[in-house]
Amino acid sequence: MTKIEIVQAENYQGEDLERLKQAIQLLENTINSDEFKKAVIDFKTHIDGGTFHFIRKEKKGLRIRTFKLKRYTNTEVLEKILKGNSQFKNKIELKLKMEFGDDGDVVGYKKSGSSTIHTYEKFVKNMTLTRFAAHIIHEYCHIIGFEHSSSSKHDKLRDCYSVPYAIHKMLKKILLGSNASSCQYLHMK
Ligand SMILES: [Zn+2]
Repeated sequence: MTKIEIVQAENYQGEDLERLKQAIQLLENTINSDEFKKAVIDFKTHIDGGTFHFIRKEKKGLRIRTFKLKRYTNTEVLEKILKGNSQFKNKIELKLKMEFGDDGDVVGYKKSGSSTIHTYEKFVKNMTLTRFAAHIIHEYCHIIGFEHSSSSKHDKLRDCYSVPYAIHKMLKKILLGSNASSCQYLHMK
């Protein structure tokens, strides 16, 4: 069983903090479920060898550079997620900060080199707990080293098959049912 602990929740108070705690509880329950473990282990797509997508594309001027990322098996991806990021085994420690600004449709972000998950206030207050949990697992995947291309414009596979996005979508599909995303996977119809 993997525990998730909030070690820092800057700017979160009252109802916002309560929603954060509920989202974390939902996330903890879901990643420990057999359904989630099976979804990660069975992950399969119809393209690119059928695995998670371990490529990062960055646009530099007019050129798009492609970086090959370290590859992991499905089992290794699951183990890395459940192992956690703290000195204790199977413990995830999260630092979070609510941001008062606004960046349109962007729910939040993590700066490179930092492990704090930033989330915009308007989303903290309004998004469903499922979406909140999915946002947190996406950023947590970055914390433990998984990456994706900077834009889906020059990497069409990013949004469905990179580890952070695929895990995010898997969580939504488990919690909301199969219509939760437009991504096609062979392991979860
Ligand atoms: Zn991301």
